[in-house]
This record gives sequence, C-alpha cells and structure tokens, in this order.
Amino acid sequence: MNKKINEFLSLKTQTKKTILVSFMMIAALSSCSKNSDEMMPEARDTPYPAENLKKGLLGGQEITYERKNGMNFFQGDIVLSDQQLAEGGTASKGGASFSRWPGGKIYYTVASNMGSINANKITTAVNEYNAKTNTQWIPRTNQSNYVEFIFGSSSGSDGWAHIGYQGGRQTVSLDQYISVGSVIHEMGHTVGLYHEHSRKDRDQYLSIQWNNIQNGQAYNFNMYTSGTDIGPFNINSVMMYWPNSYSKNGQPTIKRADNTNFTYNRTGFTTGDINTINAMYP
Ligand SMILES: [Zn+2]
Repeated sequence: MNKKINEFLSLKTQTKKTILVSFMMIAALSSCSKNSDEMMPEARDTPYPAENLKKGLLGGQEITYERKNGMNFFQGDIVLSDQQLAEGGTASKGGASFSRWPGGKIYYTVASNMGSINANKITTAVNEYNAKTNTQWIPRTNQSNYVEFIFGSSSGSDGWAHIGYQGGRQTVSLDQYISVGSVIHEMGHTVGLYHEHSRKDRDQYLSIQWNNIQNGQAYNFNMYTSGTDIGPFNINSVMMYWPNSYSKNGQPTIKRADNTNFTYNRTGFTTGDINTINAMYP
C-alpha cells in the first residue's frame, strides 16, 4: 500500500460514532484473529517458488510480477488485471488512483462454498469498513460491477485480491486459515491500497534484509514509486508486510531502519489506515 498525502486530512471524515465503534471492534477483532495470523501470513514465510516472473509497466514504472493460474500477482497477493498492465505505461492509470469505486460503494457476494466460519469473518470485516471508512460494502443484488469473495486454496498466500475497482466481476480469495485481520488486508487491496513497505519513503523507516529473502522473491520488496503515498508511513498499518515475509531462514526480511524488530498488526485498522482510505474516498 502506498500512502502519502500532502493534502490536509480533516477529522470530519471520522465521526465520533465511528471512533466509538472502533474501540469495540478492535477488541473483538484482536481476540479472534491472532492465532491464524501467526500460522498463515498473506505472504508466507515458507518457501514457495516464484515460477513465472514477468516484467510489465504499472503506472509508468517497470515492475516484476508473477504469472500464475492465468492471473498477474504483484507483491504476492495483489492481482493486476491484464488491462491494468496493458495500460500500464499511463501514469494516471497506475497506483492507488487506478480506479476508485464509484461513490465508495462496493457491492459484494460470497461464494456459496465459502463456509460459515469464513462468512462470519467477512461479515466482521465488512462491518469494520462500513463503520470506520467512507467505503460502504453492500450485498449485491443485480449490479454488474462487484466483488465476489471466493474460497481459494493456499497458493503462496492465505488470500489475494484484485487491486482497485476493475469493472465487472472481480474477486477476493480467502483460504480456510485466513484471519479477520487478513480479510481486512485483502479488502484493502480491493479498495485500492498497495503494501506499506513499498512506499517511496520506506527506507527512512525500514531496513530490508535482502540476504534473508527467498531466492526469486526479492522483487516483492521493491518500492512502488508510481503509487501515491497517502499520510505518514505507518509500520503498524494493516497493509504492512510481515517481518518474516518470504524469509528463507526464519530471520526477518524487514526490520525497522534502526535494525530493531517490529511487531506486525493484523488486529484491524489503525487510524492511519482509516485516514488513508477516507482520503481516497472523501
Ligand atoms: Zn497484500
């Protein structure tokens, strides 16, 4: 996720009501997401070979992505459409601004084979978005542009999602181990957020431990300089990679710039995450 904003962020986007709900929801989230988070990060730390790496243009920047199962995976769990890559030389089409959901309304359906456990996680995550952000996730009736939550097998990550508004049907994939916090993370991609560690200013805050990264996976740690960074860098963002993402040896692949370890957050939104989404959807 790239976050930057030089624009002034008004507190009016956050009502007292949503702040109150925040406290309640964070308490609920942190109790149910922790264990599975630790077991199954989105970008897992057990080796998963990158098989079909390709280069393409996204927002005018050359990026490396993985072609897998007929899809284009960027940074592990972000799916870029063929159209996005075809138009990738156009700077205005890239980054967090590629496409926003009209009016912040995101219509969704849940695949019939999802299972009640994951369906409950989706409901919790949807309630988080609807209570705290200016996006509204609304059950689909007959809208032609929508998200379907599909039940997916683990293939290098516990979930993945198309980035931003694509038009037509797009998907968020969740496996059986995913946590509520990681569902919120994947939905962040749907909203249009990239990963926090790929911000242009990340080297002021992070030290990438290149020697600990699995062979062939280093591209996942490149900066995405064509993105729009909104707000200050936020190491606690729900859109941060894990400290051990793509580790080949159990050692951290990401530390703080002062070489100390950080603790990941998948308990839910930080205030910075909410401000970022609301800056994108005023
Ligand atoms: Zn992600």
